[in-house]
Amino acid sequence: MISLSQIVSYTICPRLCYFRIKFGEKNFTESHAVREIYLSLRRGFDLEWARKRAMTINENFDLDVFNSAASKFVFSDLLHDFKPIDWDVTIKSDRLDVVAVIDEIVEFRKKTYPVLVSLKAPKEGVWFRDLMKIAVLSVISDYKSGLIYYAYSGELRKVDSNISLRRKALKLIERVKMIKNGFVPERRECRYCNFCSFVNECKMKPSTFASKFL
Ligand code: SF4
Repeated sequence: MISLSQIVSYTICPRLCYFRIKFGEKNFTESHAVREIYLSLRRGFDLEWARKRAMTINENFDLDVFNSAASKFVFSDLLHDFKPIDWDVTIKSDRLDVVAVIDEIVEFRKKTYPVLVSLKAPKEGVWFRDLMKIAVLSVISDYKSGLIYYAYSGELRKVDSNISLRRKALKLIERVKMIKNGFVPERRECRYCNFCSFVNECKMKPSTFASKFL
């Protein structure tokens, strides 16, 4: 199965997706930290518990990264209007061979929504990667809308899926499957290269011919 996080990696850099499929995630990032903080605070625990959770789950836990995320995290009062139904929920599609972990499922005005936690909000709407997360959820589950919680500003933004987004989600899924089947994408120099934990492997690794289609 391919995972939602691998699909999201593709939207940052197809090669990053290749390395994460092959080696997994090397570093403990602020994204990992905010997820644990969100899950802990929503269940009535404190930051100390979030830190213990993060240390227990992530073998590459980094206290500086956790503290940096914790100093920016905003727990919005807005969240009290959304009734928690479940946390850390795994959804699988055997038909498409995709698995996703939803941070929280909430109820609002008698409808249920998946919530995914992200870091800093764009000026308007949501980042492309967050849009694609909800689009992928919409093709592997019955959820046609989802919420992104931007943890560094405490904003909750809604995404409604539609046929065009579902097409884009399927295209992404197909490309990640091609990578899983052995294609190595070309290097895509981008801002993320400055933080990428695979920068050394990336310089050494040639592309496959078919990678120009990815
Ligand atoms: S170093 Fe840059 S091009 Fe290579 S995998 Fe990382 S982000 Fe992609």
